[in-house]
Amino acid sequence: VNISNVDSREALRRARALHHYEDHVAFFYAKLSASAAAIISFLLTNEMPILLAAVGMLAIMLFDISNIQQQKKLLAQPDGDFADWEYHYTFLSTFFMLLVGLWCFFSFTLTKDLFIHLLCVSIAMGNVLTLLCRNFSNERILTLQLFAVGIPLILGVLSYGDYRSLVLCTFFLPLFSSVRDISGRLRSMFRDLERQSDEKEAFGVQLNEALESMSHGLLMFDETMHLKIINKTAREILDIEEDFNCYHKSLKQIARMVDFKKPLLNRVRVLEENLSKRLHENSIERIFKISETQYLELSMKMRNDGGCVLVIEDVTQRIEYQMRINELAKFDELTGLCNRSFFLQQATSKLRLLGKDEEAALIFFDLDDFKRVNDTLGHEAGDYILTNVAERLRNILPRGAIAARYGGDEFVIYVRARDCRIGIETLADQIVSEISTDLQFNNQVLRFGISAGVAVCPNDGRTVERLLKLADLALYAAKGAGKNQYYFFTAELEETLQKRILLEDDLAEAIHHKKLDLHFQPIIGMDSGKVEVFEALTRWKREGLEVPPDIFIPLAEDLGLIRAIGEWTLLEACRQCKTWPEEIRVAVNLSAVQFQVGSVIQAVRNALDETGLEPSRLEVEITETAVLNDMSHAVVVLEALSEIGVGVSLDDFGTGYSSLSYLHKLPLDKLKIDKSFVDNIADSPRSRTLLKGVTVLGKALHLKVVVEGVETQAQFDLLREHYDVDLIQGWLFSRALPAGDTREYAWRSHGKSTPQDEAIKIPHIHMDKAAS
Ligand code: C2E
Ligand code: CA
Ligand code: CA
Repeated sequence: VNISNVDSREALRRARALHHYEDHVAFFYAKLSASAAAIISFLLTNEMPILLAAVGMLAIMLFDISNIQQQKKLLAQPDGDFADWEYHYTFLSTFFMLLVGLWCFFSFTLTKDLFIHLLCVSIAMGNVLTLLCRNFSNERILTLQLFAVGIPLILGVLSYGDYRSLVLCTFFLPLFSSVRDISGRLRSMFRDLERQSDEKEAFGVQLNEALESMSHGLLMFDETMHLKIINKTAREILDIEEDFNCYHKSLKQIARMVDFKKPLLNRVRVLEENLSKRLHENSIERIFKISETQYLELSMKMRNDGGCVLVIEDVTQRIEYQMRINELAKFDELTGLCNRSFFLQQATSKLRLLGKDEEAALIFFDLDDFKRVNDTLGHEAGDYILTNVAERLRNILPRGAIAARYGGDEFVIYVRARDCRIGIETLADQIVSEISTDLQFNNQVLRFGISAGVAVCPNDGRTVERLLKLADLALYAAKGAGKNQYYFFTAELEETLQKRILLEDDLAEAIHHKKLDLHFQPIIGMDSGKVEVFEALTRWKREGLEVPPDIFIPLAEDLGLIRAIGEWTLLEACRQCKTWPEEIRVAVNLSAVQFQVGSVIQAVRNALDETGLEPSRLEVEITETAVLNDMSHAVVVLEALSEIGVGVSLDDFGTGYSSLSYLHKLPLDKLKIDKSFVDNIADSPRSRTLLKGVTVLGKALHLKVVVEGVETQAQFDLLREHYDVDLIQGWLFSRALPAGDTREYAWRSHGKSTPQDEAIKIPHIHMDKAAS
């Protein structure tokens, strides 16, 4: 039934109530008996009006019979012309009732035959009852017909003219009115029933809509596990066409039917198999593959009556996402090679499976000048190099080998000797020579070298960790020996490693027990000839021998101890500076690592606060590396230092990168030109030109120029005569001196005698306090 059209639905409901075809026979008999009674009364009376009424009734009855089929058809149609039909029906049935009424009227007025009168009244009453049954749903028709039969009947009875007929008539009235009452009650009962069934129908429709619009597929089975409900999504997921009738069948039967059409892609079969696994094998697997590329999640709920509801969901996207995450956890995104942890895992298990007499190697390599490329040409160029290195590596990698990007610009390869036909040495050679050929990027030539270290199992070690450490050490050695080459790990390197480990332990201990010393090297004003600054340089004596800072400072950086050294140096330097004439400042070196880790500003503030040193008497020396690694961070830190009033010098200028663009962005005070620029100026015109270039550059940037590493009088003379230099530092004047000697030097240099130690009351600051 088309329920969307409310009006036609209402009309149909009325039509069906008016004319219930099941009752048709009863109504026919009612009409037949009325017509027959009228004919009998005519035969007994021979009165013409009675005959006319009888013929009219008969005609309507015959017309009704002839129309039965048509009516049935009409009522079966949901959208027939019921209004028209209702009109005809009302007219005909009312006319019939009127005829019954008239027949009664004539019978009462024209005859005095008691039998005929009884016949009339009983037939009329019978018709009133039929009327009630048939037309209760329509008050208008009911009333009209009651009047049509009632008024002539009452008039007929009244025609007796005595009080008994009056009494009889007064009995008719309550009868008619109760017929109306009953019809009203029936009507409302009928309406209630209709409404309830409408509501049920609407609920069913809503439920159906909800089921059909579910994003999950739903299948409901009865207690014999035959399908009762399947929604659209389930059909889609299982690839069951809409016109395929799968109701009242078990999943097995449906699968069998699908087999005829799609034996290879029978998704129902896959579902059925997984379901029976769940039911009979107690499997708890919820997710399974429904096709090559699609995953389903199946949830099942048993119903109380023994049936069950299956909910299936296409979880392909979720699974793919999960798999992608798993992949990401294994591979390096940029190069597609394994990442560190996956490599360790893989190499460990491969090493474990390595045969007794078999050999395998770890080749550890990194790019020599990668930092420079990254810093000067940007990360894009850096990434381009890394992806190309990975690509080239793949091309020469033997089958079965594992390659990983170990971090930054470091790569590592695990390869079994048996798999490496060309031999491990040749492979290492190829890596160094072939992978490092120049690349073209944005019309620029990218040049970089590769250094590698190799460790071999079982000779050098059996665990990945050890082999990695040894390969790294060999790499370190290769770099130390001039880069762009490979080293195999050897026993001598092992010795170096042992030494390094001992050194590391000793350094940690020295820092812990404040066994470091601070020495000071004077920096002399070119014009004044007096000390203007002392540079603080840390010294460490190990077993009576000095370990050069070039060795232990990077070591401290690696070990994470540089912050402790840095904070102690700052405090100690400020403390010493307080004992010098006021015109002399102190310069402290800041490691790039310490600079990046942060806390520099805090450490400087601490040192100044604790010692009460004027901020203007403190300078920090930083290298280009510290600045270039993170330019925006450097700007913030250096500006904060300038604000405090602390001077900033750029150390080792000219040794690092050739990018000068950053110089004017930073609040710098001094440029310290590296010793290498001065070394050969006495003999080499080229050196002189280079030095000229950097000093002029410094001046152009309005910075004070300091030249470091002046060792000879000849160098000094040249500098004084031909270069615009503000300050000079070097062994020609003095090496770095212990604190006591420094103090003496400072006062003497300013033409004064050293004040007594007692006069300088500054509390001694311990290293551990500084470190905390
Ligand atoms: P640097 O900052 O460039 O310090 C100057 C280095 O050159 C010092 O070496 C100094 O002794 C040396 N030098 C000075 N004049 C001459 C000369 O005329 N000829 C020669 N051949 N060398 C000269 P040192 O003390 O061995 O320090 C080496 C490097 O260690 C320093 O280079 C600095 O980068 C680092 N360093 C030293 N102490 C510290 C420290 O306390 N903290 C940090 N972060 N780094 C430090
Ligand atoms: Ca320095
Ligand atoms: Ca320097």
